[in-house]
Amino acid sequence: MRTWHIGNFKITEVHELPIQVGLLDGLIAEATPEVVRGFDWMYPDYANEAGQTLWDIHSYVVDTGEQVVLVDAGCGNGKSYPMQPSFGGLDTRFLERLEEAGYGREDIDAVLCTHLHLDHVGWCSMRNGEGRWIPTFPNARLVLVRDEYERHTGLMTASEDDGSGVAVDVGEDRIARAFLADATSLSEQTKLIQEETFQPVIDAGLLELVPANAEVATGVRYVSTPGHTSAHHSVRLDSGGQSAFITGDFIHHPIQIARPGWSSQGDWDAEASAGNRRAFLESCAGTDLLVLGTHFTGAGAGYVVADGDGYRLTQVKPEAAGARTPRAVFSTQS
Ligand SMILES: [Zn+2]
Repeated sequence: MRTWHIGNFKITEVHELPIQVGLLDGLIAEATPEVVRGFDWMYPDYANEAGQTLWDIHSYVVDTGEQVVLVDAGCGNGKSYPMQPSFGGLDTRFLERLEEAGYGREDIDAVLCTHLHLDHVGWCSMRNGEGRWIPTFPNARLVLVRDEYERHTGLMTASEDDGSGVAVDVGEDRIARAFLADATSLSEQTKLIQEETFQPVIDAGLLELVPANAEVATGVRYVSTPGHTSAHHSVRLDSGGQSAFITGDFIHHPIQIARPGWSSQGDWDAEASAGNRRAFLESCAGTDLLVLGTHFTGAGAGYVVADGDGYRLTQVKPEAAGARTPRAVFSTQS
């Protein structure tokens, strides 16, 4: 189990599952096997010998000493995901791994989701002994960015209200196009997520909607990184003069650090996604900002340094000697 320390904060990665190799081939269209094999630093952590990109799904527990915050909530167990069946009906040891990391369900004070795609929200609820969906973390506020929550709920209601949902739905969320979906299945999928995952939290009075770039706990802040979805937010951590940045799907795979202009087929706005990545990587290259990737395999995190026409992730912390301070990086947009 990987852990990192940022000032007084302890960050623990809690693994949920590897994504089946090949499932996401082509998601980043430019990253063909030949091209991927040309980036040495993809190996062995982020690609296989066939040039296929590697992905997994995990959450981060951020223990600030005052609050325990879970960032992203994976797929969850036993969920109904007709839009992405391989992520549905799971029975993983996620909660046991959380225990092994030293945290019970009741220890989590807040849950943050970078965006509300099904692989980032699932553990907000679980089935109890009677099979009823209940909040997994009974003492946790589910703190979501209001715009992102409204984007999600809009996918449910657009089709119901005016029958024009086909164009609205597919245009709003290209992941639907990337994965088999027509508008109906996206709308139906969204309703299922609402019913199984968010409604139990709402019923328990635990949902809290916050503005863009909100600080959720001392040193734990949402940072607007739109592109993958229209209101996608990464999460920035600051403690004791050190900082970390949890990407969410703003950087979907490390190959997008090598070539920030390569967006994912699942992005809502590929250009916004690319523009934000360029600005972010430019601003943090050579700094000691620790970048943690929500779908990154292998080392799963590192520091960004310039590399030819792009950047790379390194495990070696840039020395303080002249290193630019990352303090202004994507931190003061509110
Ligand atoms: Zn994702």
